Amino acid sequence: MNPNRFFEIKSKTLIIAFSLYFTLVLNLSFFRQVYTNIDISSASGIILGISFPIVLFLALLLIFTLFLQPYLAKPLGVIVLLISSAANYWMFQYGVYIDADMIRNVFETTPRESLDYFNLSIVLWVFFTGILPALYLIKTRIVYAPFLSEAKMRGAIIGIALVLVGLMAALTYKEFSIFGRNHKDIVRLINPTNYVYGTVRFFQKKIRARQPFMALDPDSRYAPYRDPYKTVFVLLVGETARAMNFSLNGYSKPTNPKLAQEDIVNFSDVTSCGTYTALSVPCIFSNLPRKEFNLNRAPYIENLVDLLRNNGYQIQWFDNDEGCKEVCKRVPTVYMTDLGNKKYCDKDYCYDEVFLEPLETYLNNIQDNSFIVLHMMGSHGPSYYKRYPDAFARFTPTCYTGEVQNCDKNAIVNTYDNTILYTDHVIAEVIRLLKKYPDYEIGLMYVSDHGESLGENNIYLHGIPYAVAPKEQTRVPMLLWMSSMMKKEDHINYECLKEKSRDPISHDYIFHSLISLMEVRTKLYRPELDLFASCRTQPLPE
Ligand SMILES: [Zn+2]
Repeated sequence: MNPNRFFEIKSKTLIIAFSLYFTLVLNLSFFRQVYTNIDISSASGIILGISFPIVLFLALLLIFTLFLQPYLAKPLGVIVLLISSAANYWMFQYGVYIDADMIRNVFETTPRESLDYFNLSIVLWVFFTGILPALYLIKTRIVYAPFLSEAKMRGAIIGIALVLVGLMAALTYKEFSIFGRNHKDIVRLINPTNYVYGTVRFFQKKIRARQPFMALDPDSRYAPYRDPYKTVFVLLVGETARAMNFSLNGYSKPTNPKLAQEDIVNFSDVTSCGTYTALSVPCIFSNLPRKEFNLNRAPYIENLVDLLRNNGYQIQWFDNDEGCKEVCKRVPTVYMTDLGNKKYCDKDYCYDEVFLEPLETYLNNIQDNSFIVLHMMGSHGPSYYKRYPDAFARFTPTCYTGEVQNCDKNAIVNTYDNTILYTDHVIAEVIRLLKKYPDYEIGLMYVSDHGESLGENNIYLHGIPYAVAPKEQTRVPMLLWMSSMMKKEDHINYECLKEKSRDPISHDYIFHSLISLMEVRTKLYRPELDLFASCRTQPLPE
């Protein structure tokens, strides 16, 4: 072969070679993780096993077609080859994932510490998979077509790749969405997007951390109706419960046998703020309605619990889910898995009944007005069967795996309904507990953060972009219970609330309803978003 021809490559060939090389060599740790986690003996496992390399190749093809441009191809190509090679080694040897936190470690590690990672095998690995190809790229002349035909060629590659990705997505959406949910972190193994994205996020976080913290309303004040009683309120934030599976909302199976016997107000037409926890939870506690809510800004602004604390409320957040998404940052918080309750917990998860004991202890020791949040594990998927004790496996057959795509639709729905049945029990138990304190103005609200898809139109789980989200994911259950003392002393016409409980409302109402029920006056209050506004028999005190 003519050595000059060996060191000459057409841009098209380079793009394809890069995509292939990244798929086959530089994503070894990604594919190791993929293939250890799919079940090749199942149909969905085979589909995933075949689709993963194709989809990754097509995605890389798109990226490299865009970025391997004249003047850019060589420096950029060399950089991604070297970093990806080292990253691949690192992930493969140490089982680490690359994200913003890992990038921070890289930036903040001292040279002496990095030397600990330096050894002969990384040198060899990076030499063969990074440095050699990089040297070849440096030495090689890339032949580009004239501008117009080069652009046409790239347009054609992008077009074809997009069509194929779209086709693959349509055919394997179910398999990928469930695998993705069970193995969320796996994308952090994909070279080179993991460290590019991680680096961007790292700098974003650095910039965001400089944002000034904002008090909501320094002039807010506690202005109660005149009475000698303490106010105690429990807000249960549900997880992944969808409205349509509550028999309170007309579902055909008896999923709410206990709540059906309580004197509650069930709000039957409630829309969530988001389709995933990290957005819905901060939004529920924000004074801003969904359309004005900014998730990036939210951690730097006070929320409902801060405002109540500022007005003399004792706040307690009990978390049995995956954290409070920075909402509880400034208030006392207890993580239920830390309590080591053997009856309700294994090492990772607790059943929601775990709240009852610490809640009772808390209620027995109340000194002041109190606001308590119970952040539930609820119906967290996809391992629905792990959310309830055996006694609640009433709807059968059930699906005893997190790989729900391998169960039939009926079993998935049954398992999910059992989680609702258990939630019904937990809420009823909390109400039973609150009834022991008739001398408080005591009450409870339950609201779920978002819904869930259970295979309708082949969609599972949640997190679909809001604009196109199905109602299964955005319609949530919400209900209220009040002691006689609370109804009376807060001048609430409970029957009026019940009459209005079918009106369409949303998470937007929660802040304004609760801030007024807790008798805090603030300029942020919007009466049109207060559920109680038109059912008060006496105006709020000034
Ligand atoms: Zn959630």
